[in-house]
Amino acid sequence: MTFKELGISPQILKAIEELGFEKAMPVQEETLPILLEQDVNLVALAQTGTGKTAAFGLPMIQKMNYSNNDTEVLVLCPTRELCIQIANDCKNYSKYVDGCSVLPVYGGASIDVQIRALKKGVKMIVATPGRMNDLILRKKVDISKIKYVVLDEADEMLDMGFKDDLDNILDATPSSRHTLLFSATMPKEVENIAKNYMSDPIKVQIGIRNQGSDNVSHFYYLVHAKDRYLALKRIADYYPDIYAIIFCRTKIETQEVSDMLIKDGYNADSLHGDLSQAQRDHVMNRFRLKNIQMLVATDVAARGLDVNDLTHVINYNLPDELEQYVHRSGRTGRADKMGISIAIINLKEKYKIRNIEQQIKKAFSKAKIPTGKEVCKKQLFNMIDKVENVDVNYSEIENFLPDILKKLEWMDKEELIRKFVSLEFNRFLEYYRGAPDLNVDENASLKSRDSNGDRGKRGSHSKGERTNKEGNFVRLFINLGHRDKIVPQRLIGMINDYTHDRNIEIGRIDIMDNFSYIDVIADKAQDVINAFEGRSVKGRRVSAEIAQQKGSSSRGRGEKREERRGERNNSRRDSSSRRDNQRGDRAKDRTKDRRGDSSNGFQRRERGDGEKRQQRKRY
Ligand code: AMP
Repeated sequence: MTFKELGISPQILKAIEELGFEKAMPVQEETLPILLEQDVNLVALAQTGTGKTAAFGLPMIQKMNYSNNDTEVLVLCPTRELCIQIANDCKNYSKYVDGCSVLPVYGGASIDVQIRALKKGVKMIVATPGRMNDLILRKKVDISKIKYVVLDEADEMLDMGFKDDLDNILDATPSSRHTLLFSATMPKEVENIAKNYMSDPIKVQIGIRNQGSDNVSHFYYLVHAKDRYLALKRIADYYPDIYAIIFCRTKIETQEVSDMLIKDGYNADSLHGDLSQAQRDHVMNRFRLKNIQMLVATDVAARGLDVNDLTHVINYNLPDELEQYVHRSGRTGRADKMGISIAIINLKEKYKIRNIEQQIKKAFSKAKIPTGKEVCKKQLFNMIDKVENVDVNYSEIENFLPDILKKLEWMDKEELIRKFVSLEFNRFLEYYRGAPDLNVDENASLKSRDSNGDRGKRGSHSKGERTNKEGNFVRLFINLGHRDKIVPQRLIGMINDYTHDRNIEIGRIDIMDNFSYIDVIADKAQDVINAFEGRSVKGRRVSAEIAQQKGSSSRGRGEKREERRGERNNSRRDSSSRRDNQRGDRAKDRTKDRRGDSSNGFQRRERGDGEKRQQRKRY
């Protein structure tokens, strides 16, 4: 359907035609007739990238009364980036509508500048909840005339812990206002918001509840945990034109994967909460411009990123919460394009795939990590394609051609092609010479585990023993101690079991009341840390992390926390400390350019697992 048929006014039509909008997208076809004709509450279940902004933005712009300066529409969204993007989109839609002013207000930027802009009178405010609540508390914004509140990406806002801010804001708006709630998924918390603040909402569903986009194909690759990074490289090499977000679970993992990719010559960078806002903006911009092919990101940091033509989303590690997978995979297959969502998993994670399949009502296909030979073939033909399609500047080349031809005249055509191709290709051949098969044979793995009752050479390690003469161990901190009935053999057994590797060299082990230190051979330290991720002992989450020198101010939260254990039970951060305005400032304070220290992948960095405040549905 065209926007004209849907009743969009000529001024707005002119603007969106300039943006290239010809036909309404499904969510727009659903919402426009309803919102243009009635004043209603509406719950729309729609993925990101489906045209949601215009679905609420166009009718809001069309319906506002421009004979006064009252703020009539308040749009709330989870991140600064989304806030800016929605405001820009709405400014573009309302380009030819006289008197339509749109202002983004978000944390991490000067509140005074925003207050001054608000004083001039704004028809539509687009805000992050923390900053909006702050402005309300300071009485710097008049929301008494608000007619519509739009909650965009409501699930993300709640997931980021904005529930209290949302409650405060909604309570402060006039009871006569209507609410439009847009969400990609519909967890209980979002349903509660709808129940508490919206009477008789009209429900619009694009796609099926909590399901991924139809345009996305889902694949998983089964590898040993230790081969995760090698598998990622093979995938990247197999898709030379890859343009992907690689999702990791923690900031430390994000930084490390990105560091390794850069070191290995890939066009990659990282995006996580330890970067300053300016650094994040810079990375996002470069990624949008495709100056970066692979962006390694945490879920939280990637939220503000709006890119429509990703070829792949790669789950380097699957998220803890099922619904997060819907968000991740929904970043590809957008705006009618096809996309691929990949999960790199080990045997123990296979059940997660089953659970996700149930959630998204779509099957994953098992894919095989390409062999070295397959990668080489793909790269070779990619290069040949490039040769076929390269633009030739005949006039420039012509000047040099006689000399070049003369120099190469001793070679026949085949030899010339061979040499020419080898120039680029030798690197791949060399790298992949004798490269192992990374795929896990499920049946063989199960059998070998069953038959291997031997606990391996670690059984002989005892407390304080050092087996490595060079002493190149990394000291890990594990939040289990005497109280958890931990003895050295048990720690070693856990490492054996969790890593599926019985040959990791272990050095000194020190067990304290609440925690332990264990020396692990440096090149396996990260494997051990990864293997401990998501584990629990007697219902308590277990974590391993690089230990810090005594007295170091940057000691890990886990270390400090465990040392305090017994004194305090609740180690979770105060939820108010995460409000978006504070987050921006605190992030700046904390931030160092972590990309400068990439030479040592095991340097201490703050763990990222505190990025989530709310426990949602887990596997
Ligand atoms: P959104 O879900 O609002 O972020 O929109 C996703 C992308 O689709 C944005 O780049 C929009 O500019 C674009 N878009 C939205 N509506 C249309 C439309 N009717 N036709 C073409 N592109 C659109």
